[in-house]
Amino acid sequence: MATFPDYKDIYVFVEQKDSEPAEVGYELISEARKLVASAPELGFQVVGVLLGENVKDKAQDVIAHGADKVIVVDDPLLKDYSTQFYTDALTQVINEFKPDSLLTGATVLGRDLAPRVAARINAGLTADATGIEIDPTKVADGDALLLVTRPTFGGNLFGTIVCPNTRPQMATIRPKVFDLAPVDETRTGEVIEFAPVWNSTEPEVVVEEVLPKKIEGVDIAKCNILIGAGRGAEGCLPLLEEAAKELGGEVCATRAVVEDGFMDKSRQVGQTGKTVRPTLYIACGISGAVQHVAGMEKSDFIIAINRDPEAEIFTISNLGFIGDVNQVLPLLVEGLKKARKA
Ligand SMILES: Cc1cc2nc3c(=O)[nH]c(=O)nc-3n(C[C@H](O)[C@H](O)[C@H](O)COP(=O)(O)OP(=O)(O)OC[C@H]3O[C@@H](n4cnc5c(N)ncnc54)[C@H](O)[C@@H]3O)c2cc1C
Repeated sequence: MATFPDYKDIYVFVEQKDSEPAEVGYELISEARKLVASAPELGFQVVGVLLGENVKDKAQDVIAHGADKVIVVDDPLLKDYSTQFYTDALTQVINEFKPDSLLTGATVLGRDLAPRVAARINAGLTADATGIEIDPTKVADGDALLLVTRPTFGGNLFGTIVCPNTRPQMATIRPKVFDLAPVDETRTGEVIEFAPVWNSTEPEVVVEEVLPKKIEGVDIAKCNILIGAGRGAEGCLPLLEEAAKELGGEVCATRAVVEDGFMDKSRQVGQTGKTVRPTLYIACGISGAVQHVAGMEKSDFIIAINRDPEAEIFTISNLGFIGDVNQVLPLLVEGLKKARKA
């Protein structure tokens, strides 16, 4: 007998802006597919939840990214994000459809919405998760208990959090933590339209104007090649910038470099910065502290340059150079450029 027989399936809140779903929703759907595949006995499906105005035609996109079903709440009150209306709508979706778990991006919106919803339905929520699996020891009992990993104690430890007593189990997960599965346009699935009964249609907070977000500089989370500057490279940042230019990438930094005033916070990688997963990450004069590594270890290929042979960064690198950044980086860039031409 299942522990929570009325609750099933893994739901993913697919955040959108101007009717364009954010990639993190699709990353979570890809991960939810892996979760249901890891416990086929449960017979769970992956369900996308799409809230907004004029979003119904995006449901097929959500299916193409891996959802079996999409619940759409299409309402003018949901045109722009509002804590009040989104909480009302998502809470009612949960009460109506009873998901076993609900995953949300740990974005500004997700971090606002998920706790509000969790409090209203008295559900357990793990914030800022970095890993999720279904407890294999519970599956035979029909229990899809999630083991949710997240950094704790300043990032020095990873804790596993379980919410065994209530459903749904909720978690927010940062963008770029999970892989995006290939899109399959031929996938088919069910689209269910749901109309909430609004507690009130009077907004408690009136948003008079939503200004388009001005993006300063580059978004390092979207870069394919990153040259990471650590404190050991603070004296040669122009060299790193030049290398980034030559390789068609961008520079980013550790918190130490940001705190020392050498780079903008928007370029900080790590637990309190951004999570990145470029195809190539060249770590220059970076020691490899867990808080930094948490934000870049999923890069496809990591090259580290450090003059300390014992530096932690070498333990997660695909290739390491023991030496001075000033000497090694120019040679490395030359080598990479030659390899590209060959
Ligand atoms: C709650 C909390 C959150 C944090 N969040 C983040 C975060 O988001 N991102 C982050 O990065 N950090 C974060 N930190 C800080 C983190 O713990 C480390 O202090 C920081 O990452 C260290 O940065 P670093 O590697 O540049 O400097 P250091 O640890 O000082 O390392 C410098 C390295 O450079 C090498 N070196 C020196 N000179 C050269 C040279 N000429 N050539 C080659 N190598 C050289 C040294 O051998 C050394 O390994 C956080 C800390 C806490 C407590």
